[in-house]
Amino acid sequence: MEKKKFTDDFLRFLSNSPTAFQATYQIKETLVNNGFILLKETDKWNLIKGNKYFIIRNDSSIIAFVMGEKIPTETGYKMIGAHTDSPSLKLKPDTEKKDKSYIKIGVEVYGGPIIHTWLDKELSIAGRVAVKTKQGIESKLFDYKKHIAIIPNAAIHMNRELNKGFEYNKQTHLPAILSISDKEIKNGLVKEIIAEKLDISIEDIYDYDLFLYDPTPARLVGHNDELIVSGRLDDLAMSHATLNALIEADAPESTIMGIFYDNEEIGSQTRQGANSSFLKDLLLRINCLFNGNMEDYAISIGKSFLISADMAHAYHPSYVEKHDPAYAPEINKGPVIKMSANYKYATTAETSAYFENLCHKAEVPFQKMINKSDLPSGSTIGPMSSARLSIKTVDIGNAMWAMHSIRETGGIEDQVYIYKVFREFFQ
Ligand code: ZN
Repeated sequence: MEKKKFTDDFLRFLSNSPTAFQATYQIKETLVNNGFILLKETDKWNLIKGNKYFIIRNDSSIIAFVMGEKIPTETGYKMIGAHTDSPSLKLKPDTEKKDKSYIKIGVEVYGGPIIHTWLDKELSIAGRVAVKTKQGIESKLFDYKKHIAIIPNAAIHMNRELNKGFEYNKQTHLPAILSISDKEIKNGLVKEIIAEKLDISIEDIYDYDLFLYDPTPARLVGHNDELIVSGRLDDLAMSHATLNALIEADAPESTIMGIFYDNEEIGSQTRQGANSSFLKDLLLRINCLFNGNMEDYAISIGKSFLISADMAHAYHPSYVEKHDPAYAPEINKGPVIKMSANYKYATTAETSAYFENLCHKAEVPFQKMINKSDLPSGSTIGPMSSARLSIKTVDIGNAMWAMHSIRETGGIEDQVYIYKVFREFFQ
């Protein structure tokens, strides 16, 4: 894809994916438009070599694959895994309360956001709603899009210590103000808003998974538009690159897969997370449909390779003490291979070499990251996928600043680089 078109598409993808539910929907739409067929886990399947398929769990995780010309026992699978969720604040259903004339709603902290970045920001609400229909219970996407909520700070005069480091109380300081009104709230303001937006009656709303988010669109920043600033770059950036490389792959020999997991930010221990049987169920099923036995399955797994794609911390010129100077990747200098002696990342010398080789073939530079030895490391889906499935894995990602802030910053050149490497991998 030409660079301008690719950049515009990436910005649109980020802006239109306020939660994992919308991200999954966007991925689904792109897949359908590119000839991928939706399979239900509850149906019988008939897979055909060369055809393209995808499955969805919980409306928030998706695995898409192109059946190779050869069966997996011959070639193994080539897989890239990323995640659809980002840290945020989740609405506690039906907790609207009036305090004087202020209508406020409680939130739970989802994952590990930089909390102060969520205050004094004009916020909107998105996610999905469980609705009563003639067919039973249906899940409907919801995105209010407009600004509706604010979590105001206390004035500096009331909290003189704020700039010396202040810990927000998650229960008392984070409820969001939705309105000021002298009217009584009967059914809950959020349900009223949902009913109006989805054009349904309040009585038909059961429950919801709704999150606050910053509706400011993603945009390019910097003298040469070299930076990209957006919410949820972690890990929608890798999801977008994976998706685009996958849809462009043409009749691959091996079966190729893009895996987009929900719930990485809370440890992946859900039915649709990386620590579930979602991927393994699919691999066993494909093996079975091509008449493989357990030995064939073991052979196909032994021949497979997984790129675990999640963002990395870029060298930050104002926090140089946070980096190992020998392993501090820069923005727009190419994908980052993440390594850890204690396997917080799944990369081994062998899998790192494989990825380096892909970068050489794609004519893309690469960098390496090891966390500073006296700082605890983060982790990602790589180690658990590798251990759960016994698949050789490399952990990589693009360098960025302010991971888990409401606005994160990365590099647009890096996005093009990683997409080229993923395309090389899938070909
Ligand atoms: Zn991530």
